[in-house]
Amino acid sequence: MVNMLPRDRAEKILTLGKAGWSADTLAQQLGHSPTTIRDYLNGRKTPGVPAPRMHLLTDALADYSRQRLAEDPHLRPNALFKELKELGFQASRATFYRELRHHRLLTSTDRRPHPHQDLLADLAGRSRATIHPIKHEPVLPRPVAPITGESLSSYLSRLARTNHLTLAEVLAVLPSWFSTKINNPDELSQHHMLAPATTDALSALARLGRTTPQHLAGALPAFGARHTRGPVRATTACRCCTARRGITEPVPVHLPVHLKVCTRHGIWLSDTGQPNLDVTACPEIIAAQYRANRLLRRYTPQQLVLAHETALAAIPLWPAASAAIPLHWRHRLLTLQTINHNRHHDIGTDHDAYTRAAKYPDAIALVPAILSTRRIEQDLLAKSPRHSASRPC
Ligand SMILES: [Zn+2]
Repeated sequence: MVNMLPRDRAEKILTLGKAGWSADTLAQQLGHSPTTIRDYLNGRKTPGVPAPRMHLLTDALADYSRQRLAEDPHLRPNALFKELKELGFQASRATFYRELRHHRLLTSTDRRPHPHQDLLADLAGRSRATIHPIKHEPVLPRPVAPITGESLSSYLSRLARTNHLTLAEVLAVLPSWFSTKINNPDELSQHHMLAPATTDALSALARLGRTTPQHLAGALPAFGARHTRGPVRATTACRCCTARRGITEPVPVHLPVHLKVCTRHGIWLSDTGQPNLDVTACPEIIAAQYRANRLLRRYTPQQLVLAHETALAAIPLWPAASAAIPLHWRHRLLTLQTINHNRHHDIGTDHDAYTRAAKYPDAIALVPAILSTRRIEQDLLAKSPRHSASRPC
């Protein structure tokens, strides 16, 4: 027999109840009876304290009954009896009617129990529910703003954690669109079967997370966010940017493919699985990001990526002379390894990200020449580079 829930579970019920979740939804989510849930929501039970048994209609329950009968003229005694039972009233049905009369709550004949009271009450309850469907719109107590480019599963997990819930609990109150979406390894693909439900899904999530559909749609690629023209890459959001928002865990994001550096904080945004790097000691890396941004005025992101990779292969592996060492990328590499390892001992020095970051200024410096050569080649083939690089719609 479970007469009392663990304190943390009972407190969760109170938190969600205050946020507007119905007892029925909570019962479904948490796997307890609606009666138990209502015991806590209505203060009949206190987290950590066993509830007293009530065999007679107390003044409080009588007041409750009076209020319910006043505010719902169609309320049947049988329905009221069920509500009271959920509040902890444990007497028999016969005692209930006797108590109602005793408190002068059962005055007119139509309040007397009908031989088929249960059936009638059920029918009445059902027809009222049909005429006035209760649209349950859960809201979480703590709002969570999305990070630009954030993956849907990351956002949902943060929303859950911030509100002391599990991801499954959050998914359970959202349209099934979300479960389908996050079970798809490529959440960026806009599947035609899911597309019609996207608008509803967006509204439901915005309501739950207390943000706006516009904000979510502009930030989360799963909703087709167009914060990028062209391809995106998977990385981890700049930890300084997320820390300013009070987020301590890594946030997986999809960013435009040319974005390698958070220029505000001087953080190299490594590919997924590798640590982000502090590159503030090498301002030429940050300057190279600005230069890459400017190149996008003339070239497509795909062209930039292609030229970048070509450039990386063309960078000299070793300095030509000892005088050239301070300007060589290996010098920069050592600086980045030293600084990042000293500041964050958990960041190893053997990641490919170091090399890519160290070579970045040299590579971007070579890109315009590579692209103009390529453009001449393509012009000779009488083919517009923009046209050839654009994606089919
Ligand atoms: Zn940043």
